[in-house]
Amino acid sequence: MLRAAAWRRCLTMGLRLDYKTDLWVDWCPGCGNFGILTAMQKALAELGLKPWEVVIVSGIGCSGKTPHFIYANGVHTLHGRAIPFATGVKLARPDLTVIVDGGDGDLLGIGAGHFVALGRRNLDITVIIHDNQVYGLTKGQASPTLPAGVKTKALPKPNLQDAVNPLALALSSGYTFVARAFAMDVEHLKEIIKAAVKHRGSALIDVLQPCVTYNDLYTTPWYRKRVYKLEDEGWDPVVRDPSERPVKLARAIEKAQEWGDRIPVGIFYQDPTRDTLEDRIASRIPSYRSLPPALQRIDSNGTPIVGERELKAIFRDRLIRVKKHH
Ligand code: SF4
Ligand code: MG
Repeated sequence: MLRAAAWRRCLTMGLRLDYKTDLWVDWCPGCGNFGILTAMQKALAELGLKPWEVVIVSGIGCSGKTPHFIYANGVHTLHGRAIPFATGVKLARPDLTVIVDGGDGDLLGIGAGHFVALGRRNLDITVIIHDNQVYGLTKGQASPTLPAGVKTKALPKPNLQDAVNPLALALSSGYTFVARAFAMDVEHLKEIIKAAVKHRGSALIDVLQPCVTYNDLYTTPWYRKRVYKLEDEGWDPVVRDPSERPVKLARAIEKAQEWGDRIPVGIFYQDPTRDTLEDRIASRIPSYRSLPPALQRIDSNGTPIVGERELKAIFRDRLIRVKKHH
């Protein structure tokens, strides 16, 4: 359980709020996960969010441990199911900041269907992918983002399958914020996380993350030579009017194909003009935001949440009176 009282004491004492827990972080030394964790902690602190306003949801993989290391609400869920869990949390409490933190194997392999569904819904959740092209926790098998024909040191032969492009998939699924970052540039990643959390709608950040133990191809020096920032070249990702959507979306999908000698990072696409799923639910259920499902009364004695009086009010047009026969 979250130690809210202790945190409030910190606030009143003016102590540093760094979102760190006292657990030992047991990733391999040099792993890109450290950069992602630090960027998340800094972003949450700089956004001024309180730990009880934030929920981090992870699946299975090395990245799955992230919620243990962040001083906020956390759920370490099943393989590929972080997005459905997060969806439930967000629908039940739309006022909370919900972040999904998972691996490329978890989110784009077994969890790919959920990944697409989140974009269609444009629910206000941020998804951070630890993209290291391997399944690190299970000894380095090829993940869905490893290109065909390449052989990392854990593979006996070159990879036979083509890679999925996380940015292009997110863009065509309907995500309204799509970005890429590099785990070893913590300050830049932190700013992108802040922008993604502030954005209203489904947000994806694909984080290029070296796995020092199993991926000897896509290393920190390999990335450092190639990565460049979109904003340094005047890229404008923002859709200011729905009529701009087709052109900006097509440009972003094309840009997402750039890979090799030059690899772009930064915000590829941002569309704040589309309704979120919460907006659509609220237009159908006016009390949704003021009385979301998780804040509704639940009787401890087992009687229904909705009483007879409320039921009669809801179904008054359809009620029929049945005569008692003795
Ligand atoms: Fe990081 Fe790879 Fe080690 Fe996992 S196996 S902790 S991804 S370096
Ligand atoms: Mg991985």
